[in-house]
Amino acid sequence: MFIGHYAVGLAAKKFAPRSSLGALVAAPILLDLLWPIFLLLGWEHVSIAPNSNPFLRLQFDSYPISHGLVAVVGWATLYASVYFGLTRYLAGTIVIWIGVISHWLLDLIVHRPDLQLYATSRLYGLGLWNHRWLTIALETALFAIAIWTYQRQTHARDKIGLYGFLAFVLFLLIAYAGAAFGPAPPPSIKKIALVTLLGWLMIPWAWWFDVHREVQ
Ligand SMILES: [Zn+2]
Repeated sequence: MFIGHYAVGLAAKKFAPRSSLGALVAAPILLDLLWPIFLLLGWEHVSIAPNSNPFLRLQFDSYPISHGLVAVVGWATLYASVYFGLTRYLAGTIVIWIGVISHWLLDLIVHRPDLQLYATSRLYGLGLWNHRWLTIALETALFAIAIWTYQRQTHARDKIGLYGFLAFVLFLLIAYAGAAFGPAPPPSIKKIALVTLLGWLMIPWAWWFDVHREVQ
């Protein structure tokens, strides 16, 4: 799942209005920010499997450190603890913990059985990715609800607050269109990892326009 994870971060602002959107967005995308690091380190493995359905072009051979549920609970608790230590904001802490966990649950809906509880457990996945249009419909709906929620919760104080936010949404939609309709299978694992690492930039971007908006 892709923009569905960002949807969780945007909608989270309603439940933790004092949290920076950067911190809130980081939670649901955290596992996919760690995953490329573990790929580059050789700790987790993915292979490229040409397929006419772009959602099925990656075969997740092993990723228990970034996407095993036991590890995910650990990442959620670690991030939430650090956040609480820095901010003492309980609502934000809870929302961040749930946000990290939500990644696994949303991935469970779309992935084919490749998600684990721990490194030697059986594999889980409901496989919505097999149904390309249903996946697109679900993610787009989640994203639309989240945008609506966030823009109702906050309003722009200046042009950065407005256009920074619109550009963020547009960028994600274009990137998602590339992922959902892209013609060619990804060229190499290393490239996939490096492109995925760019996701880290979405955190300061979200923080940036969010400070130019105020909660109403
Ligand atoms: Zn993931």
